[in-house]
Amino acid sequence: MAICKLCNKEKQLIKQSHIFPDFLYKYLDREENNSMYQFNSKNKPNKIETGVFEKYILCSTCDNELLGKLEGYAYNNFFSKILESNEQITHLSLDYKKIKLFFLSLLWRASLSNKSLFDNVKLNQEQEEFLRKLIYEDTTISDNEFTIVAYKCDLKNKGYEDIIFISPIIENKCTIYLSKININIWLGSQSLPETIDVLKLKESGEMVIISTSSPLIEKERESILKLLIS
Ligand SMILES: [Zn+2]
Repeated sequence: MAICKLCNKEKQLIKQSHIFPDFLYKYLDREENNSMYQFNSKNKPNKIETGVFEKYILCSTCDNELLGKLEGYAYNNFFSKILESNEQITHLSLDYKKIKLFFLSLLWRASLSNKSLFDNVKLNQEQEEFLRKLIYEDTTISDNEFTIVAYKCDLKNKGYEDIIFISPIIENKCTIYLSKININIWLGSQSLPETIDVLKLKESGEMVIISTSSPLIEKERESILKLLIS
């Protein structure tokens, strides 16, 4: 028995809690859930450990029921809809609370993780507790707090579509890479440019996702792969 990080109750904790939901790996059709392969210049596959689970941090109720519900919602209403869309601009009508908590739960889980991969994804104690309470109590915050914007990446290098990762927190912002989707989260309450306001996940549940083929997104992913291989 130990203390579950989400409900703070003394419970039997489960052996494996995923930092990133299982469905992402299933979608990518990986043979092994916790690794990916990238071919190097000599065409030899490098196995990349993505460290996707953490041992003994959550009880089964929190992991399977609480987080599981958010994951199921995100898969059916966000992830699959964006990936199935061929439009340059996708308009989604979402359950604001559920999808917001889903994204924030990814950030929160990465922050809790002891894996070196997430060393630079550390919220301060206050932020960690703030998100824990939000997720556990199933409550919500305004769309100006922990503002979220998503982009769909039109990548030339298809290998980059395999990335599931969260960037270090830099200047109170981080990016979650879920296959072809980039999710930007601005920590706390920040005043952001108007373009962000148009694209952000709104309290009404409305979210506009544009498709981008900027060379910058390829560069960014190239550097992530280097990080994952090293
Ligand atoms: Zn729990």
